[in-house]
Amino acid sequence: MSRLSIITAPDSRLTIKSANVDQIDDKLRKFMTSMSNTLKFSSNGVGLAAPQVGINKRVVIINSFQDGERGETQFFVNPKILHFSEETVISEEGCLSVPGYCAEVQRAKSIRLSYLDYDNNQQETFFTGFFSICLQHEINHLDGILFIDHLSSTKKNIAVRKLKKLKKLSNAANII
Ligand code: ZN
Repeated sequence: MSRLSIITAPDSRLTIKSANVDQIDDKLRKFMTSMSNTLKFSSNGVGLAAPQVGINKRVVIINSFQDGERGETQFFVNPKILHFSEETVISEEGCLSVPGYCAEVQRAKSIRLSYLDYDNNQQETFFTGFFSICLQHEINHLDGILFIDHLSSTKKNIAVRKLKKLKKLSNAANII
């Protein structure tokens, strides 16, 4: 079961706009399975975008918990938000690429999304609540946007300082 390593901020690879996928072939499905294994292995992550594992392609996966158990992974290739609801919600978000930091972010409550599924079928679906928020967070990754980019500059600076410190510590640990 192959797993991929997750890039943590600050890292320029997380700020790049990702390219559309031309074709969902076996190679891409293999990669998506590795993404799914990586997400399931992370203790509490519910979503992962390809740029977080160093691949700048428009692929997002979600695997949420129900009654403490992981569900099936859902795959979204070339996701495009066709409509954002005017109604917004504020909820606390975290990110596997932003370890040790959570903050409240305001997003649209519901979205209408077009995407290709795992079997290469074109889908158009309405999502609301938690799932809609996860998708907006993950799709932001495809455009090089992290949830901390939605915060005030003061809050963002605090987060970035913490992340830099954490990175310095883990790099030092690697040398030993
Ligand atoms: Zn994230």
